[in-house]
Amino acid sequence: MSQRGLSEEQRLMRQSCRDFVDDVVIPFIRGNWQREWNMVPEERLPPEILEGAQKVGIRTLGVPEEFGGVELDKATETQTFAIIAEEIARGDSGLSDKLVQIWKVSVLLRNVAPRHLQELWFPRIVKEPGFLLAHCLTEPRGASDRWLPYNAPEAAMQTRGVLKGDQWVINGRKQFISNGYDASLFVVYANSNPKVGMLQGTSSFLVPRGTPGLTIARCNETLGGRFMNNGELVFEDCRVPADHLLVENDALGKAGIYFRPGKIIQASKNLGVGMAAFERTADYVQNYVQGGRILIKHQAVALRLADMATRLAAVRSLLREAARAVDERAPDADYLCNMVKVFASEEVFKVTQHAMELHGGNGVMLDFGIEKLVRDAAVFLHMDATVDISRFKIIKSMFPHTAGAYAGPEN
Ligand SMILES: Cc1cc2nc3c(=O)[nH]c(=O)nc-3n(C[C@H](O)[C@H](O)[C@H](O)COP(=O)(O)OP(=O)(O)OC[C@H]3O[C@@H](n4cnc5c(N)ncnc54)[C@H](O)[C@@H]3O)c2cc1C
Repeated sequence: MSQRGLSEEQRLMRQSCRDFVDDVVIPFIRGNWQREWNMVPEERLPPEILEGAQKVGIRTLGVPEEFGGVELDKATETQTFAIIAEEIARGDSGLSDKLVQIWKVSVLLRNVAPRHLQELWFPRIVKEPGFLLAHCLTEPRGASDRWLPYNAPEAAMQTRGVLKGDQWVINGRKQFISNGYDASLFVVYANSNPKVGMLQGTSSFLVPRGTPGLTIARCNETLGGRFMNNGELVFEDCRVPADHLLVENDALGKAGIYFRPGKIIQASKNLGVGMAAFERTADYVQNYVQGGRILIKHQAVALRLADMATRLAAVRSLLREAARAVDERAPDADYLCNMVKVFASEEVFKVTQHAMELHGGNGVMLDFGIEKLVRDAAVFLHMDATVDISRFKIIKSMFPHTAGAYAGPEN
């Protein structure tokens, strides 16, 4: 099923990514299971893994070809992102988190960054295998709920961006940011007009690492996806040149170009974790003997395996439909990509629970590696919007005039 309908090019890309994952990523993860618990974030993932990703051409998807990136056919770009993201996450969820931020932010930059910034940054992204990108929206008092109908000034971002002379001055704090600890370049959202709702008053900026006033405050120690270093950022009179403005005032609306493929990629990584759980469990139950028979001969075991396979097939089906809708810019793309993100997170979490239970005691042993899949799957419930907020967004998108209108006081 995972190969049905793929173009020749997609098949080849998928296969070279799969070879890299099978030959390099999985042996590294299985052989170094303690590494994710190293409390020195810089030491967790050796640079050779990103260099390997660079070699097989999966690091700079989304970067325009004229700057040396791997540009995909636009008609199927999101669908190809989905295929590759799944394969990488089948090897390691955190590694895929790290890489897909490069793809997602590159798509955003190629659409909204002025030409001279593209000329400056894209070649560096391509040249340096350790160059990571980050996208900073979430703050201590606002995250996925920002996309609810609360387009009121009091719900706006606390991080402020003020134009002073020929510089934008940014003050505030961002939390839970993927690659936030070690990225070289950050897209940062800030309130640039506190008198209006956030949809009219939020701007986005490009902030290079090392800009005075930007502090990387900490690396969050996460439950799963631990090879991606999630970080907290503080901005204190952080000044960027006026030309580092990406979008003035309607940056949240323009971020759809990041979020729609982003939700698809999120669901695909999630599917990759589920596929790893299924493959390893299918193998285990056909080899491990209990009660005088291999596990799969016990009917309860077979039923659970069927449940895992069915959930994964359902996620894959919805994912294909949603990814196609995004590529075709279909009117239902918005809610389909929210549907698949939330559906995948709940289904795959259940799949990994089955995997853990079918492995019995081995399922909870760190060195066995199955519990890692449960931890990785758990993180998807909260990433890129919580389950409840995602459901709100689905209904808001389907019924914009009723569910999509703010339920607070009338103006
Ligand atoms: C591993 C990881 C990576 C991440 N990467 C990024 C990133 O790269 N960039 C970025 O900007 N963010 C990132 N995030 C942040 C992520 O988008 C937020 O964690 C998510 O949107 C939830 O926000 P929150 O954590 O503030 O939870 P809260 O919004 O505080 O939610 C807490 C609970 O309250 C509920 N809730 C909140 N508001 C409402 C409401 N208005 N109505 C009803 N229920 C409500 C939620 O559903 C949830 O159950 C990441 C998070 C994780 C865990």
